[in-house]
Formats: sequence, C-alpha cells, structure tokens
Amino acid sequence: MSRAPFQPGVCDTPDMSTNRLDVAVIGRGMIGAAAGRHLAEAGHRTALIGPGEPEDRHTSQGPFCSHPDEGRITRIAARTQTWSDVAALSIERYPDIATRSGISFHTPCGFIAAYHDAPDWVARAAKYGSDARLVDADWVRETTGIAITNGLGLVTEGAPAGHINPRRLVAAQTELARLGGANVIDAAVQGVVRRNGGFEVTGPFGAVIADRILVATGAFGAEMFDWQLAVERRARSTVMARLANDGRIPCLILDQPPDDRVHEIYWVPPVEYPDGSVRIKIGGNRKETILLEPHELTDWFHGDGDPIEIESLTNNLSSLLPDAPLGDIVTAPCVITGTPTGAPYIGWIDDGVAVAIAGNGSAAKSSDELGRLGATLFSDAGWDSPLDPANFSPQLL
Ligand SMILES: Cc1cc2nc3c(=O)[nH]c(=O)nc-3n(C[C@H](O)[C@H](O)[C@H](O)COP(=O)(O)OP(=O)(O)OC[C@H]3O[C@@H](n4cnc5c(N)ncnc54)[C@H](O)[C@@H]3O)c2cc1C
Repeated sequence: MSRAPFQPGVCDTPDMSTNRLDVAVIGRGMIGAAAGRHLAEAGHRTALIGPGEPEDRHTSQGPFCSHPDEGRITRIAARTQTWSDVAALSIERYPDIATRSGISFHTPCGFIAAYHDAPDWVARAAKYGSDARLVDADWVRETTGIAITNGLGLVTEGAPAGHINPRRLVAAQTELARLGGANVIDAAVQGVVRRNGGFEVTGPFGAVIADRILVATGAFGAEMFDWQLAVERRARSTVMARLANDGRIPCLILDQPPDDRVHEIYWVPPVEYPDGSVRIKIGGNRKETILLEPHELTDWFHGDGDPIEIESLTNNLSSLLPDAPLGDIVTAPCVITGTPTGAPYIGWIDDGVAVAIAGNGSAAKSSDELGRLGATLFSDAGWDSPLDPANFSPQLL
C-alpha cells in the first residue's frame, strides 16, 4: 500500500497575532526542527519555517532535504570524539522526544564498523558507557551473515545503536516545537531582509518579523543571503534493494569495500518504505566526488543518482551479503553538505544571523544536540556546552 511520508503537526499559515518574534528558524529539517523545539521550549517566541518533502522529486523546484528516507544509522562509536559526543547527547534524549511527541522513530538493532582505527571508535564510545567492542570477521559472519574480508579492525555496538527514521524524527521535533508554542510554517522562505533592527522573512505565507534568525537550510538556501559559507555540496546516490528483514543484519559502516570505486560504504538494514516494500539501503562515498554548485542542486534531485556509484554499491551489497536473496533495486540522489573541518557550523556569522548547518553526512543521529547547540546561541548565557565552540565555528568564503 502506498502512503505519503509521515509529517503531521504542521500548518501552512503563521499565527501573526503574536507580532514580532524573537527567532525565526529557516529550515525545518533535522537540525532546524530540533533547534526550533529547543528554542520554543526555552521560552523564545519562535517561528519554525520550512516545507515538507516535495510530492514529486522529479518535477519539484525544491528546496529538497537531505533526509528523504526511512533510515539513518545511529551509534556512539564514531570517527572523532566530537561526533561521539553529540551522538551520545542526542541518543539519550530519544526516549523523551518519542514519548512526549507520541511519534516513535528509533530501532536499536545494533551496528558494526570495519575501519582502520577501530580501537579508537571503541574508546570514544566507552566514554558514554557504550558496550562497543572489537570482534573478528568470523564472529561477524556467524552472527550477522556479513562477509567482511578487508582485514580492517571490526567494532560492534549494541543498543541503543541501530537506526532512526529521519522523517519521523523531524515530525516529532516539529510536533514538540508546536506544543512548545512555536509558529510552525510549512513553506519555503523566499526572501530575508533586515527591517527595523530585525528581519522580515517572506514566503507564500506572507511575512514573519523576528529579532534574529537561525539558518538551517542544509544544502539549499545560499541564494537568499549575501554571505556564502565555505561548504562542499557533495552528490551522493543510494541503492535500496528489496530484502526481507531476518533480524540478524545490523547497521554497517565499512571502509575499503570489495568494489573500491566507492569507499566508506554504509547500510541501513531492511526497513519498510512508503510503498510497502522492505529494503536494505546502501550508500557510500565515490572516490571522484561530484561537487554541486547551488544552482545545480535541483537538477541533481530530479535524477536517480550516479550510474557508476550505483553499480559499485550494488556489487558491494551482493559481495558482503553472499547468502541474502536480494530483489529489485530502486535508486535515489542525495546531497551531503561538508565542511573543511568535518564538523558542522554552529555559530553567529553576522549581526542577528546564526547558522546551524552542514551535517557532513553524519548529523541525523546527532541532530537533537546540534539543534540544541544552535538554540543556545540565542539564550542570554550563550553557548551552553562543554564542547568547544571553536570546533563548530562557521567559515565564510
Ligand atoms: C544519503 C544520505 C545518508 C545519510 N546517512 C546518515 C546516517 O546513516 N546517519 C546519520 O547520522 N546521518 C546520515 N546522513 C546525514 C544526515 O541526513 C544529514 O546530516 C542531515 O539531514 C542534515 O540535517 P540538516 O538539517 O542540516 O539538513 P536537512 O535535513 O537537509 O534539512 C534542511 C531543511 O532546510 C529546508 N530548506 C532549504 N531551503 C529552504 C528555504 N528557502 N526555506 C525554508 N526551508 C528551506 C529543506 O527543505 C530541508 O528540510 C545521511 C545523508 C545522506 C544524504
């Protein structure tokens, strides 16, 4: 049975009776929706503005999001301590977000990584009491059916590692923002101008006036501002292969895969998609990364991904799951917004203008803490975290 992506709790007209607001959050994706809820719950008069997913990706003029999917890996073991920190802080709040919103989004089915510095991943996660530990390829084959032959170190992490449904997490954050008093506006912003010491944010909804703005527009939105962030917009493709869920396959990140036209592949084990099919999703980083300019993004989202990346990902899936009866595949384009530091940008870039942007392909699981950090910028006390704000400093072109 076909059903639309899950996105309740939004309205398409702002309640302008509240007049001037404290903060307008532009972008209602993974980070923006989290920031909107933390701002509203902290008592700021907040607008959370952004569209849902386009009905038809092939014809829409956007903007598009980087979470148009049913599964994103969540785990504490990570490539850097900063990513472990923001993941752990977010994951501990999942139950509260799900309970209060009434929207579940987390499946703690476990995680495996094959990476050259696997012991470091274990050490980073240990800071939070995670059960992450080193294992060998025989254990992985016996326990999960995954055949890993690249000789790299292997880490396994149990619950709460697993996957989240990013659409449902955005819906949950949006619902909590609404319950916290935010004006939730289901539309794209078309313009932002300074007016009377604040900002006038305009779109098909009319105008919202706010003292300050938080920009969380992911790969999009560059055309609205006279400043440009130092980011790369990296084209990515995903392959979703039909496969029944036998409950054994965990989430996976693996470097040096058998078909090495991509590196750092990942997958989310079989989950149900809106058309009712159950599919495993694989993605990865093509060695010759395709970088997109802002004006090229919409065309990329109109397509179905890069044929070389898709062929390589499909080969890797078959090699790593030699006993799995894979069915038909569907493919999709996506975009990762990357920074030179590998960490997101969260900070002020101009008077009254802050950003919470650039997830570097890793922000879904950690979006609640990243959004919270963005929200703290607007509090009297400012940045409220033991994490060093310098790690998140936005860089302009
Ligand atoms: C294929 C793929 C797989 C991934 N896998 C994982 C994973 O397994 N685990 C993980 O943790 N992370 C993963 N990520 C990364 C994660 O999805 C992103 O880091 C995250 O979505 C970034 O959140 P964001 O809020 O910055 O951007 P988005 O989620 O893209 O949200 C930005 C929002 O801004 C809106 N917007 C844009 N322009 C405007 C405008 N003018 N007005 C109003 N709104 C606007 C967009 O519509 C969108 O909703 C993956 C990413 C991709 C592409």
